[in-house]
Amino acid sequence: MNKVEWDYEPFWSEAVAQIRNHLSDQEYSMWFASIFYESSDNQTIVLSVPSAFYRDQICKRYYQYIKQLLDELTGCDMKIEFMIKSQSQKTNSDKETTSSSTGEEEYQDIQQSTQIINRKKNGEFNPDYTFENFIIGDNSSFAYNACLAIAKNPGASYNPCLIYGGVGLGKTHLIQSIGNYILSKEKNIHISYVTAETFTNEFIQSIGEGKNHQFKNKYRKVDILLVDDIHFLQNKNQTQEELFHTFNALYDSNRQMVFTCDRPVSELKELTARLRSRFERGLNVDLQPPDYETRSAILKKKCELQNFSMPNEVIEYISSTITSNVRDLESSLTKLIAYSRLLGKEITLPIAKEQLKDSYSIQSNQSFTIDTIQKVVGEYFNLSSIDLKSKKRTKAIAFPRQVAMYLSRKLTDYSTTEIGYEFGGRDHSTVMHACQRIESRLQSDPMLEGNIQRLIRQIKEHKKHNR
Ligand code: ADP
Ligand code: MG
Repeated sequence: MNKVEWDYEPFWSEAVAQIRNHLSDQEYSMWFASIFYESSDNQTIVLSVPSAFYRDQICKRYYQYIKQLLDELTGCDMKIEFMIKSQSQKTNSDKETTSSSTGEEEYQDIQQSTQIINRKKNGEFNPDYTFENFIIGDNSSFAYNACLAIAKNPGASYNPCLIYGGVGLGKTHLIQSIGNYILSKEKNIHISYVTAETFTNEFIQSIGEGKNHQFKNKYRKVDILLVDDIHFLQNKNQTQEELFHTFNALYDSNRQMVFTCDRPVSELKELTARLRSRFERGLNVDLQPPDYETRSAILKKKCELQNFSMPNEVIEYISSTITSNVRDLESSLTKLIAYSRLLGKEITLPIAKEQLKDSYSIQSNQSFTIDTIQKVVGEYFNLSSIDLKSKKRTKAIAFPRQVAMYLSRKLTDYSTTEIGYEFGGRDHSTVMHACQRIESRLQSDPMLEGNIQRLIRQIKEHKKHNR
């Protein structure tokens, strides 16, 4: 390996950490678990992959994404080279230029092995999501105590329990803490953790494959059912029906159920009354954004967990500037820690201010007008706001319009009906369809995620400059 002044290994590690955060576990293990850092040269990083087929797939799907990340991290125009190293080659091999792989076959192998990994991981919990790692504040003590009581005595009281609150406030952390806690005491208990989205997808798939019976068995026979983000079930009537029956089966046999939702259930418009009444039956607790003291305490805890010493004034600065939610707090901290570790510099207040100035989460969380969103998205795609509102359905307009609708839903409090109205009087179902399309594309297209984040930044900047 060239041990020279160029060493991009730390940048690769950081890029991988960011990629991991952006992709689903399945996608990550499918494509990134088998890429390894090999060596560095001037503005060039060499990575090894198990086959030529794999390399081609990575290049097709992720080259731009990886390059963009590495460019940003290193501040250079980076070149990425791949060498092929089959799994059995334990020692460093020479760079291969020709394909010696079995291509398609290896792809099958990779898919199979990732399926095994996924199967093993299924139902597992993020080990960091524990009660010990959760900082309690006035905003969260009720929810925390309810979850802890449930974990200590599942099925006994508070059944079902529903935790609701905005994005990034710790819902997933708490619901998974219940799972981690119970499994640490009792290995043989059957806990199912599932997001409402996965539940929906599995349900649809089971119908398509004629395996509905297996699906029913899977969820109606668990000891504890944890379902994250039930707001996703809106408008999915058949899945709601299925969950309703699962609920009844589990409730009747006194099995603990915990749900999370991004708003009070009463505000879920597209939910059948009978399922809503089930969710409301037990305990409903809310999570509020943390106050200043809690934000500081969370930051201190996260620094401690990462073994990083951060000056107090920087902690104070982040706590007072980033008020939206814990996820935004965390990502600011991650950025500063990465900066410090990659460049070997201590974080000072000026550095923190400089590094976080562009962070889109740092700006206030006020909502935006649909007008602004249409303007920025239009400019981005070389269209006008009028195009986005027009009846035209060409592909060149339809996709940007879907993106604008998706962002309107994400960044404003407008209902889908109101958004439809702002887009040339379209129906609310068109808006919902657009949001679903973009959401599902986000799952498979990491480039789109980057573009969406860029658009959000531009929308926020537009607002700042036009105050
Ligand atoms: P939600 O599911 O509500 O969108 P998450 O549970 O994913 O939010 O939380 C976002 C991030 O913030 C996670 O990494 C989580 O560990 C962290 N987090 C949230 N609340 C707390 C808290 N009170 N203490 C420590 N970490 C927290
Ligand atoms: Mg969550």
